[in-house]
Amino acid sequence: METTASEKVHCLIIGSGPAGYTAAIYASRANLKPVLYQGIQPGGQLTITTEVENYPGYPDGVQGPDMMVHFEKQAARMGADIRFGLATKVDFSQQPYKVWVDDDKLIEADAVIIATGASAKWLGLESEQRLNGFGVSACAVCDGFFFKGKEVAIVGAGDTAAEEALYLSKLCTTVHMFVRRDEMRASKVMQERVQRTPNIKIYWNTSTEEIIGEKKTEAVRIKNTKTGETQTIPVSGFFVAIGHEPNSGIFKDWLTMDEAGYIKTQPGTSKTNIEGVFAAGDVQDKIYRQAVTAAGSGCMAALDAERYLGEKGLH
Ligand code: NDP
Repeated sequence: METTASEKVHCLIIGSGPAGYTAAIYASRANLKPVLYQGIQPGGQLTITTEVENYPGYPDGVQGPDMMVHFEKQAARMGADIRFGLATKVDFSQQPYKVWVDDDKLIEADAVIIATGASAKWLGLESEQRLNGFGVSACAVCDGFFFKGKEVAIVGAGDTAAEEALYLSKLCTTVHMFVRRDEMRASKVMQERVQRTPNIKIYWNTSTEEIIGEKKTEAVRIKNTKTGETQTIPVSGFFVAIGHEPNSGIFKDWLTMDEAGYIKTQPGTSKTNIEGVFAAGDVQDKIYRQAVTAAGSGCMAALDAERYLGEKGLH
């Protein structure tokens, strides 16, 4: 598509989760006049969760979508220029860096902060989509607490699933864990911990057929792929932990990433392999993935950008 408009900005922020908005708050206060493009899901992953109880400063908890409205309002009040639009292509070959929004609008920026996040992978069942937020969740640390004293299920067999199963086992009576093969992908130590936990029940060679419930999750129907046998297990919560996908596709020709596509940052900083391009939040973090850690890394990115622009005489 042809470029129909172009604009030069000082500091461009791509993404509107806790990392992007926090970067915008700090960058605005440092007079970097940030322009933030929100992407296709303004507010990011928190807009598809319900109650958030672990973000400091909200003693009574807060709904995820409401919290993201607060983040946005705060960034706007500080002066950030917040716009709807999706970054679709970049060219980081030289300063100023080029970012195309919605294919045809070119933004040139002295510094770029990438905070495009990650997306949870889902099984793809109709019932999983319908009951999302009504017992179905992709984050045990966020939502496990609501199932205290209840029976839950989790699907997945990587380190995340193992960690989340262990987390849930401390809150719930029984954790039914569905593994699609006859072995787990998780590290040995995590596998051993899971297998040693008495209230985690592992089902090998198991696929999830359906999550059952009208308005809330009531049970799950699973199938043993070796024997073809199906069974229905009553559960109040169903956790999907089959991996995340970082939203980093448009940067792959420019930035160093790990094999899963997470952008690599220099330890203790938000710096990528290209100076003046910074990454914050889940797009560079496959381990912690919390709103508060994303916000913290957004702050780091704004401070790194400010320092960079100062050193280059661009600010
Ligand atoms: P992974 O990609 O490592 O694991 C995903 C798991 O989900 C696999 O076991 C996979 O099965 C299973 N799976 C995928 N699709 C389906 C499906 N449709 N139905 C059923 N099961 C499915 O993702 P993780 O999020 O666990 O981990 C991502 C990375 O982060 C890894 O490198 C991990 O080591 C790291 N990590 C490290 C932590 C730590 O160090 N504390 C904590 C969390 C993550 P299969 O094995 O058959 O492919």
